[in-house]
Amino acid sequence: MRKFTFVFALVLSLSACGDIQTSTEGAQTEKTSPIVAKATDWSADDIKWGALTLPANVKNLQQMALSGSYGYDITESLTTEIGQRLAGSPEEAKARDWAVEKFKSVGLTNVRIEEFDVPGWVRGVETAEILSPFPQKLEITALGGSSPTPESGIEAEIAYFPTFEDLEAAPMGGLEGKIVFVSGRMTKAHDGAGYGPANRKRQLGATEASKRGALAVVIRSVGTDSHRFPHTGQMRYRDNVEPIPIGALSAPDADQLERILKRGETITLKLVMTPRSTGTLTSGNVVGDIVGSEKPEEIILIGGHLDSWDLGTGAVDDAAGVGITLGAAQILLEAGLKPKRTIRVVAFGSEEVGLVGAFAYANRHKDNLQNHVLASESDFGAGPIYALRTSVKGPARAELENIQKAIAHLGIKMEEGETSGGPDIIPLFRAGVPAIRLQQNGFDYFDLHHTHDDTFDKIVPEEMAQNVAAWATMIWMASEADVDFRENIEESIGE
Ligand SMILES: [Zn+2]
Repeated sequence: MRKFTFVFALVLSLSACGDIQTSTEGAQTEKTSPIVAKATDWSADDIKWGALTLPANVKNLQQMALSGSYGYDITESLTTEIGQRLAGSPEEAKARDWAVEKFKSVGLTNVRIEEFDVPGWVRGVETAEILSPFPQKLEITALGGSSPTPESGIEAEIAYFPTFEDLEAAPMGGLEGKIVFVSGRMTKAHDGAGYGPANRKRQLGATEASKRGALAVVIRSVGTDSHRFPHTGQMRYRDNVEPIPIGALSAPDADQLERILKRGETITLKLVMTPRSTGTLTSGNVVGDIVGSEKPEEIILIGGHLDSWDLGTGAVDDAAGVGITLGAAQILLEAGLKPKRTIRVVAFGSEEVGLVGAFAYANRHKDNLQNHVLASESDFGAGPIYALRTSVKGPARAELENIQKAIAHLGIKMEEGETSGGPDIIPLFRAGVPAIRLQQNGFDYFDLHHTHDDTFDKIVPEEMAQNVAAWATMIWMASEADVDFRENIEESIGE
């Protein structure tokens, strides 16, 4: 019997959704995207199909994806008919019902909701204004999980820290009666490599400021845009600190504060934020299968997350991921293909507030994780895929390299480097499930991420079709591969 080990060796850091991913993913940064891709590179009409040595089934799947609007239509439906889908909210519950209907309508079987509990939190009033020296209003949003200010607000002088590291280096005490302002800019990168470092102030800013006696915290939004949209995202209090309120200012408002500070002025800010905790609420994962024809017990798990933040409509984060993965499964079904292994689609709940659905899935299926032979999530927008990464090594890796060869003409190369398969796959990956990831160009992802501006119009149909073509190819070829992806997984993780 195969040895199935639990893995804790990975260094975890912050990921693209208010959660965690392996810190080894993506190490380079650049000012402009190195991934130059145009829809004409992969348009069904422009591809010289005759020149490709593709199995007929694969060619058919790709032509269907590239000339159709599978993922795009699903994403349109979710963002239009449900809108915002905050973890534990009635809207997230509606999204689960939507997903059940959608899963069934494309032909998945065993469709069900697997419920779990999640701590509730809702946004209240949120305003910020400079009282002196130059009175004016600012754009702010509370971070998820933040405690409130009094209803009348907090009025206090700002203590400025150019970066989060400056706050960490500050002596304990000394910030009594102050609102801490932490700036620090996020580096733009196609693989989102700037997010982990930039996100530390969001995760830890309130804790570090509270330890030093501050009343509240405002941060420069964790994002790469210059628009007047503050970026929310989950935060947490640690070390039993006094839970002080924390909000994110839009980038132009953070710039404004810095311009005033540069004049040598002392800024007095008024901050009103009245979010509240709403107790234990119900969330859930929606699960559906294409049951395998020869090895039904072996599961290839794919999916995205159903919940979103409450500002935009969660189009790039992550209705797109639900659309791409469900769209890929839909194409297999419409093509009449019967995969040997089970293809399982999961629309995870409550990802944004700490991978709650991901851990609930891993816990509920803990006695069957050894039968999860491959797992992957799409959760980085809808930009074109440029590379395939996998944690699989040894003989089975060659099969995954064959998948890459079958999507190479879509602009997708093989990329070295570790992957956890996506945020909601982390608990599975840590339990030894082999991971694969189709890396998307997310150069502009953090312009929109967790803002009011994350809406459906940002999704490019041709780019989403390329995603669906790659995913359909991947799940079909993986389901047919005559290898065991689980072999060598232990060695691969140990490296
Ligand atoms: Zn996400």
